[in-house]
Amino acid sequence: MRISNYFFYTTKESPSGAEIVSHKLMLQSGMISQTSAGIYTWLPLGFKVLTKISNIIRDEHDKFGAIEILMPTIQPASLWHESNRYDSYGAELLRFKDRRDQEMLYGPTNEETATDVFRKYVKSYKDLPKLIYHIQWKFRDEIRPRFGVMRGREFLMKDSYSFDISREAAEETYNSVFKLYIKIIKRIGMAPLVVQAESGAIGGNLSHEFHILAETGESTLYYDKEVLNVKDEADFLKLKNLFAVSDEKYDPENCAISKENLCISKGIEIGHIFYFGQKYSKTMNAKVQMPDGSSIYPYMGSYGIGVSRLVGAIIEASHDENGIIWPKSIAPFNVALINTLQNNEELTKVADSKLKQNNVDVIYDDRNISAGKKFNDIDLIGIPMQIIIGNSYKNDHVFEVKLRKTSEIIKFNSEDALMDYIIQNI
Ligand code: ATP
Ligand code: MG
Repeated sequence: MRISNYFFYTTKESPSGAEIVSHKLMLQSGMISQTSAGIYTWLPLGFKVLTKISNIIRDEHDKFGAIEILMPTIQPASLWHESNRYDSYGAELLRFKDRRDQEMLYGPTNEETATDVFRKYVKSYKDLPKLIYHIQWKFRDEIRPRFGVMRGREFLMKDSYSFDISREAAEETYNSVFKLYIKIIKRIGMAPLVVQAESGAIGGNLSHEFHILAETGESTLYYDKEVLNVKDEADFLKLKNLFAVSDEKYDPENCAISKENLCISKGIEIGHIFYFGQKYSKTMNAKVQMPDGSSIYPYMGSYGIGVSRLVGAIIEASHDENGIIWPKSIAPFNVALINTLQNNEELTKVADSKLKQNNVDVIYDDRNISAGKKFNDIDLIGIPMQIIIGNSYKNDHVFEVKLRKTSEIIKFNSEDALMDYIIQNI
């Protein structure tokens, strides 16, 4: 992609109202544009990152055996009357009427629609377990939308809903989703910290939150320093009842973490899982028939990942004074091509097309502006590798690659060596 053909608008100015670095960098790099409080337009750079994160989540869910559907954003209030949540959910729920005077709402979550679709189709124990998911926009009229996409009013969530025939089976599902979440967060390039949680408005009796540590996080986490050494998904699961709690659950008198090992840090909640048993299947009368002809209400769980919040959370955890540092897996482009020589179109075209042939997603800064401005912009938007074609090329036929994360410069004296390196490292 040539920048001159793209929708590329960066700014040096510090945006007013951006309290934290991720919000500031997302505005400065032209990833998002605020449409109204807590509601954003995703500009091309931001939308690419959002899509890459969604695709990783989708790919891991599909491999896991979860079934993707798409439930609507607008829901009839009648379903929420059935589940008894219409009145209790509070002012975060955006309620309105359609032209037929039907009460409607913009879904803040989808337990009701998931249970409704389940009860319409699934009638037998033979069909269980079932795990359905979707990636869909939610609306919560947050009292204080802030920090950009981290606490928006409209935001993208992956949410899944599980249905099992017994509590034991449901807990097994819960544990396997727990491991799936660790895998996803690690694949995105982040280190998760899992804490036991209160389950809030959704209610229930088993719940964990998945966090990324960051000073600007809104939750306070109490954990044993040992948890930071855990690497393997199965080990995370072993620690599920130990070693870490969020602020609402912390009780200094009754804390399993020893004084010498206790760490207290701020975290950003990027995922949340719940087991709530028959809460919705009973109130909404979703039943399946058992082998002996009797019926049971399935045991359910719900599992959310804040897809749009993740974009901000990752920037909080991965940036420097020059801008964003994207993990490779979700960078908007694999490579930036910066040509600092004048009249060097031919050479750039060659590099450009070879990269294309190898499916390297490249952003090419072809603007007629100073090299310094090009470097600043490409650092700001956080592209992991920068190919620099400049004086070293002119004088010594040397291509340079600068790694965004470490600022290391690697030199290549042939185009083939350069291409091999890029293809192996994207
Ligand atoms: P929080 O405590 O941050 O309000 P929550 O417990 O209300 O989160 P859930 O209902 O569990 O959140 O939603 C699942 C995930 O959706 C959260 O873990 C979070 O990553 C994301 N999320 C929730 N509210 C917002 C929001 N207002 N803006 C962006 N993402 C959000
Ligand atoms: Mg909330």
